[in-house]
Amino acid sequence: MTTLTLADWQQRARDLRIEGQAFVQGQYTAAADGATFDCISPIDGRVLVQVASCGAADAEQAVQSARAAFESGIWSRQAPARRKAVMIRFADLLEAHKEELALLETLDMGKPISDSLAVDIPGAARALRWSGEAIDKVYDEVAPTPHDQLGLVTREPVGVVAAIVPWNFPLMMACWKLGPALATGNSVVLKPSEKSPLTAIRVAQLAVEAGIPPGVLNVLPGYGHTVGKALALHMDVDTLVFTGSTRVAKQLMVYAGESNMKRVWLEAGGKSPNIVFADAPDLAAAAEAAAGAIAFNQGEVCTAGSRLLVERSIKARFLPLVVEALKGWTPGNPLDPATNVGALVDTQQLDTVLGYIEAGREAGAQVLIGGQRTLEETGGLYVEPTIFDGVSNAMKIAQEEIFGPVLSVISFDSAEEAVAIANDTPYGLAAAVWTADLSKAHRTARALRAGSVWVNQYDGGDMTAPFGGFKQSGNGRDKSLHAFDKYTELKATWIKL
Ligand code: NAD
Repeated sequence: MTTLTLADWQQRARDLRIEGQAFVQGQYTAAADGATFDCISPIDGRVLVQVASCGAADAEQAVQSARAAFESGIWSRQAPARRKAVMIRFADLLEAHKEELALLETLDMGKPISDSLAVDIPGAARALRWSGEAIDKVYDEVAPTPHDQLGLVTREPVGVVAAIVPWNFPLMMACWKLGPALATGNSVVLKPSEKSPLTAIRVAQLAVEAGIPPGVLNVLPGYGHTVGKALALHMDVDTLVFTGSTRVAKQLMVYAGESNMKRVWLEAGGKSPNIVFADAPDLAAAAEAAAGAIAFNQGEVCTAGSRLLVERSIKARFLPLVVEALKGWTPGNPLDPATNVGALVDTQQLDTVLGYIEAGREAGAQVLIGGQRTLEETGGLYVEPTIFDGVSNAMKIAQEEIFGPVLSVISFDSAEEAVAIANDTPYGLAAAVWTADLSKAHRTARALRAGSVWVNQYDGGDMTAPFGGFKQSGNGRDKSLHAFDKYTELKATWIKL
């Protein structure tokens, strides 16, 4: 919790010096062709800074810098214990600059400052620290070979990693990649979203301050179709790690196939079901969680509980509790520490969300609460948290990821029907089940095609467990030791004895 007030944060926003350049070979630099774009705050439409709009020439330079650093061994061949110390210092520096980074995040993408402080920046630091702390505790293997052979199974860094990340948790998503990528000894070219590049640009300098050698971490702000595409097609990028939409994820697989068959690891979209059975142990808690699952971070969450599946026998009792709980999530100025729903990231996202609300109405679903743009007079981009009842799972609002605070309520009569509806989307990122029946909880969790399943809670997890998707929600996993698989190649060495 911060003791700073809205007025304090507004003053700090005015005083803030914002860096908008790319970071290559340990230096801030303009794009090769000098191009920039306006970085606009969704809080009030103010231009925060001109940001370097990188392109193919910048990708070329950054990949060369990353490759040279990797081949030099200055980081890739450091003892793991030494990399650990640097990663921990990097995490410490994020924490030491927590308020500055939180302010940048909030100004840039509109999330509440309380969330930036409590969730985003600590989450980013934890990812760096956890991966750093782990790296000198991971052993390689000796294979169970015949007596006259020694078989070593070792892990090596892949080399140059391109990381392309989204705007909803800008720094945290970046650090879920940077933690394991850097800890395992790779060099990285990070491309933040054009909608939220500021924290990635800022922490590049902190990485160097922590002791990460120049060239090991480069940051290229810019658009997906320019610098993002150039990285994805680059012949000297070994691995591409991505968090973002399923549409772009599919395109990246094509780019890899058209270029050097770089490894591609994808964390993509979701349409997660939150299943409430009649025997849920605590309906009030389930209602609170259902509201938070769609309103937190303005619904701009890959694991948002955007489909609420309710057993018909309790629907009349349960839904009013959810509506009441959602009244506690009110859009307001993100710089106000009391605000729990901020602004949507940009006008494009605002139009997308309002378009889905319109589509829900047209399909015959009923708005129980919300459904409008709000606080327009501020110049900011706010939408009321919205609940649609009477949704069938075939409707567009139940099938497509809205990425805004719009909840679809769907009824069911049996556990089998609930699972069938839950699994009936292209996605498989997360799901939740509320029941007091242990067997039913386990049976349902097993039947759900999702990378994370929560029982009697929504959105649990930390660095100790893998996170990622089934189906078109992606492949591979972030977090935990499983994340190291993305950033290392396995080598088998056979020695004749
Ligand atoms: P997006 O796919 O539009 O963009 C993600 C990144 O890809 C951005 O940096 C963008 O510039 C870049 N990009 C776009 N087109 C590209 C191209 N042709 N070549 C290379 N790069 C390109 O996604 P977004 O709108 O930034 O983020 C929202 C999406 O992210 C949602 O679908 C959400 O579910 C998903 N997400 C998933 C997770 C997860 O862990 N599974 C976490 C957070 C967000």
